[in-house]
Amino acid sequence: MSDALSKNNVAKKYKINTIGAYIFRCNVNASTSGKNDLCSEGCVLSAHSFGIAVDINWDENCNGCSNYTMPMEIVDIFESYGFRWGGRYKSIFGSRIDAMHFEYMYDLCKDLK
Ligand SMILES: [Zn+2]
Repeated sequence: MSDALSKNNVAKKYKINTIGAYIFRCNVNASTSGKNDLCSEGCVLSAHSFGIAVDINWDENCNGCSNYTMPMEIVDIFESYGFRWGGRYKSIFGSRIDAMHFEYMYDLCKDLK
């Protein structure tokens, strides 16, 4: 995937200002608890808790924002390697989009867009 990103002209030009992956917390989109209320029954662990998710440029691709900068060329590359993009959450789950977020799902969700 790194090779695909480095060979793609749009991906090469997309400046990454912030990036983060592992953090043990609740999923703010799926939980009824706060993200740090790990002992609450309303906590659904985030994919970040398992190190299978990455957030990129959260200042430009904020959770719940309809305007974002994440290029579809980068989304296409991530999806071709088995990642699900949070920018599709509205069409998949009917929830708010999370354009900064990619989570590795192998090929389990490849048909969901
Ligand atoms: Zn995330």
